[in-house]
Amino acid sequence: MSYTMNVLEQAKKKNPYEPEFHQAMTEILTTIQPFVDSHPEYEKAGILERLIEPERVIMFRVPWVDDTGKVQVNKGCRVQFNSAIGPYKGGLRFHPSVSLSIIKFLGFEQVFKNSLTGQPIGGGKGGSDFDPKGRSDREIMAFCQSFMTELFRHIGANTDVPAGDIGVGGREIGFMYGQYKRLVNSFEGVFTGKGLTYGGSLARREATGYGLVYLMDEMLRQHGKSLKDKTVVVSGSGNVATYAAEKVQQLGGKVVALSDSAGFIYDAGGIDLSAVKKIKEIKRGRISEYKNYRPDAVYTGGKGIWNISCDVALPCATQNELNEDDAKALVKNGCFAVGEGANMPATMEATEVFLQNKVLFAPGKAANAGGVATSALEMSQNSMRTAWSFDEVDQKLKSIMVNIYNNITAAAKEANCEDNFVTGANIAGFKKIADTMLLQGVV
Ligand code: NDP
Repeated sequence: MSYTMNVLEQAKKKNPYEPEFHQAMTEILTTIQPFVDSHPEYEKAGILERLIEPERVIMFRVPWVDDTGKVQVNKGCRVQFNSAIGPYKGGLRFHPSVSLSIIKFLGFEQVFKNSLTGQPIGGGKGGSDFDPKGRSDREIMAFCQSFMTELFRHIGANTDVPAGDIGVGGREIGFMYGQYKRLVNSFEGVFTGKGLTYGGSLARREATGYGLVYLMDEMLRQHGKSLKDKTVVVSGSGNVATYAAEKVQQLGGKVVALSDSAGFIYDAGGIDLSAVKKIKEIKRGRISEYKNYRPDAVYTGGKGIWNISCDVALPCATQNELNEDDAKALVKNGCFAVGEGANMPATMEATEVFLQNKVLFAPGKAANAGGVATSALEMSQNSMRTAWSFDEVDQKLKSIMVNIYNNITAAAKEANCEDNFVTGANIAGFKKIADTMLLQGVV
């Protein structure tokens, strides 16, 4: 058995009951196998064994009091995966499904993604099984303050800089930042995604969705296509989905569907994003309420969004939301490009269907890297005590996404699998970290 496959087998045995982490390791290690096996220096230095083992895993109790006066207890965790090229960087997720397996898969992906951005950021991820849905602002604050009362001692502007993810937006980051500042008595850039009045960056809110579409636009352009007049289906209706849809519309595409965990809406005339923002960003409501704004739209409960016919699909909700049957349905209906706004939304089987059918497929670690890249721009602005304009940040984001596309294209070509951006992204992300780890000795 090759070095790479041996490490994978051992890692699965050593980390049982972690299916999402197994999936992320399998996807990455199988695609980089030929590259790694042609570089014996990686095996000698135990690079893969070190890469799949987080540098540190912190798990803690988060007690807080709900509005009825009852004490609630959640799990909190931060996985500091790899700091070879910079401080740990990656979001916090608050969702009832959060487990160590999910945080490890996200942290592992983050290491490669952050490497691809070309910026000096290592990889980490964290979160809690806390469910913010239906909680009052006071309950959210109580939870965030308790979460930070433990996490603060493990993070710092040069150590670990968390950000948002599912269930963690501006409100939650504000509460956590406030508590952090109080505990350490220091005003520092320890979070990204902050409010604009206390060190946040313009365009950070839009960055993941916009970045996804910039990368898709470049990919289509280099294949003689464009988003103009194309029909696009976007899943989710949170931060990434909303701003991906906005940029598609700005580039002349028509977004006809969005979803949340309860169901999806189809609006043949094109989604009215101002209605979506009112529902999701102001009322924190459900996507089914869209019909109150556009009575002709159709709401369908449950899954099924991938059966809608489209040219381009952008899964922007959560992991494993698009399976093999969904991929076959998309291909059958003529979809020719897929970009992962979410982390690992397509299952491995679905990805295989896209690759076999020559669908242009942009994997999440490249396609959604615009969020963390702009977070790194926020860190730079904080260090320089300056604030760039929206256009300055947006221009930098755009050139980062075009660079990422060019780098993964070149890596795919070099590996003799042109247009396989999964392999390209994994090799390009891996090489920089592995070579840096070689330079830094056995640590
Ligand atoms: P939000 O919390 O803002 O939105 C998440 C959206 O996905 C909501 O519409 C939510 O619906 C839906 N969703 C969540 N879980 C499920 C599920 N199990 N089944 C179906 N739908 C679900 O999160 P973000 O937009 O920030 O994140 C979305 C994805 O993008 C995640 O995979 C995240 O890791 C990834 N990502 C985010 C970045 C960022 O900058 N925010 C950066 C890079 C990647 P509901 O409200 O019903 O739960």
